Amino acid sequence: MHADLARAEQLIAVVPDFPEPGVLFRDIAPLLADAGAFRVCVEALVEPFRGRFDVVAGIEARGFLLAGAAAVATGTGMVPIRKAGKLPRPAASVSYALEYGEAAVEASDDIPAGSRVLVLDDVLATGGTLRASHRLLAELGADVVGSAVLLELEALGGRAVAGDVHTVFTA
Ligand code: AMP
Repeated sequence: MHADLARAEQLIAVVPDFPEPGVLFRDIAPLLADAGAFRVCVEALVEPFRGRFDVVAGIEARGFLLAGAAAVATGTGMVPIRKAGKLPRPAASVSYALEYGEAAVEASDDIPAGSRVLVLDDVLATGGTLRASHRLLAELGADVVGSAVLLELEALGGRAVAGDVHTVFTA
C-alpha cells in the first residue's frame, strides 16, 4: 500500500460502544481533517472507475463528504442518497431490513435516465444500505457502474449482500 494511504488508514479512529454498546464505530473524521489523507483516499476510491461515471452518489451522512469531494475531483455531478423523510422532493424510496426494524433510503430525480453512477460510502458493514441504494438508483433509471467504500468490515459479510464493492481499507 502507498505510504500516504497507510498513514490515512491509521487516522481512522476506532470508538468502542458507539452509538450503542457492542458497536465498534469507525470514525473517519480525523482522516478527513488531514488534507493529504483526504486527497489520497478520494483518489483511491475513484481510481478503478475513472472515465466510466458521470455522477457520484453519496450515502448519508459521511458518504456525502466523500462523494462531494470525488465529484469535484473528477468533474462529475453529485447525488445525495438520504434517509427517509429528509428530502423535499423524493422521487424514489427503497426500504430495507435492519437488525431490529426497518430503514429506507430516498433520492430526488435530478439526473438524466441512463446516467452512469458511482456510489460511495465510508463503511461497508452488513451491506443492506448499499444494496438498497443500488435498487434506488435503478428505480431512477440510473446505470450503477460500481460502488466503493473507504473501509469494509469483512466479518459482517456485506460484500455477499451488496455485490462487488471496491474497498480502500479492510478490517
Ligand atoms: P450497513 O447497511 O450495515 O452496511 O451499514 C452501512 C452504513 O452504516 C454506512 O453508511 C456506515 O456509515 C454506517 N456504519 C455501519 N457500521 C458502522 C461502523 N462500525 N462504523 C461506522 N459506520 C458504520
